Amino acid sequence: MACRAAISLPGLTRPLKPSSSVSGRISSGSAPPSKPYRSLRHLLLVPSRFHLPLPSSSHFRPFSCASSAFPVAAMSSSSSYQKELAAAKKAASLAARLCQTVQKAILKSDVHSKADKSPVTVADYGSQAIVSLVLNKELPSESFSLVAEEDSADLQKDDAHETLERITVLVNDTLSSEYNTTVSGKDVLAAIDSGKSEGGPHGRHWVLDPIDGTKGFLRGDQYAIALALLDEGKVVLGVLACPNLPHTSIANVDAHYSENQIGCLFYATTDEGAYLQSLNDSSATKINVSTVDNPAEASFFESYEAAHSLHDLSKAIAVKLGVQAPPVRIDSQAKYGALARGDGAIYLRFPHKGYREKIWDHAAGSIVVTEAGGIATDAAGNHLDFSKGRHLDLDTGIIVSNKKLMPALLNAVQESIRAQSASHL
Ligand code: AMP
Ligand code: MG
Repeated sequence: MACRAAISLPGLTRPLKPSSSVSGRISSGSAPPSKPYRSLRHLLLVPSRFHLPLPSSSHFRPFSCASSAFPVAAMSSSSSYQKELAAAKKAASLAARLCQTVQKAILKSDVHSKADKSPVTVADYGSQAIVSLVLNKELPSESFSLVAEEDSADLQKDDAHETLERITVLVNDTLSSEYNTTVSGKDVLAAIDSGKSEGGPHGRHWVLDPIDGTKGFLRGDQYAIALALLDEGKVVLGVLACPNLPHTSIANVDAHYSENQIGCLFYATTDEGAYLQSLNDSSATKINVSTVDNPAEASFFESYEAAHSLHDLSKAIAVKLGVQAPPVRIDSQAKYGALARGDGAIYLRFPHKGYREKIWDHAAGSIVVTEAGGIATDAAGNHLDFSKGRHLDLDTGIIVSNKKLMPALLNAVQESIRAQSASHL
């Protein structure tokens, strides 16, 4: 069964795929630490009209800042990452704004193909540049290391002038709402290439997927800007901006949403819980994973793209576990966000043989889920280790659920994998 949560975004024009007019589709059915990056600091980012929130002892007292579109809910004073969180939320929100601008009127020339044939758009590059520039601007006294998906090699080619110009205009237009600043094409290239860090077990590293789910983005469906912070190899902060995700549960896949009912910002820091706010509103709500312990009442998420996860294997696992509901297929780490607020109880991800998971595809999502009371492990039940560089070394796949369901889920996963291997002998 394939259902759509028909999210109509007024003015969404997609010349790439003119027959489709709906956004937000939901289908049921190691290396040493890198040198700190400092070279963006000199850019023309003149003093901001945005001010970081003052430390507050009251939990989530809305921060009001008359001159900024990004008032930030204050964390309790026990949080050691509050200024990083404020900066990350601002960076991801601005990047989401750039992505929304592009998605609403995407041009054929905005889409390119990477060496591995996967798509990349001006919005992927623009989002990465924005996040790098904003983090540098907001956290000027901290060393900066960024592990991010994109690099500027293709933008430096002779035939890429116009594309770089388009990205630079998008970046400047987006930054102008918050900063009195203009960056050049060269600055944009440098900002994108600040993401070449190898990460690792020591020091702090930002981890970014500028558009997670580029294929969903191109379909007009779900995607996420996923930003996390590693400290000594552990994810300590995560922000997921999901511009097309409805504010309310997507469990009802037939629901329709208007533009002002979509756009979610999930965030979490270690031991502070997970929170959700609208991308257009600063009031935050604490979120928790589902308490479902009966598989017959659980629903599960998986990739929309069959090329990204083995749908047959997840179907076998669901049958073994006794899950009755059809899979809910959506793109990107929006799945982690939806699971963290209890829209569904299980997320299964089994890439095809040979695929190596990247840390930016799971870092932000995993802390949002774990701080909401869930667990994310590999198929052997090991916790995800983000300290090994740009890749995750793991056993077979990634499974995410609440603590009550996890033991039975892990059994079903391992039995199904064994059965699948035996059938291939
Ligand atoms: P999903 O939205 O769950 O389909 O996952 C999207 C992410 O999967 C993309 O952002 C890519 O980084 C990653 N990806 C790309 N190619 C593959 C692949 N062959 N198998 C699994 N994941 C992939
Ligand atoms: Mg990705």
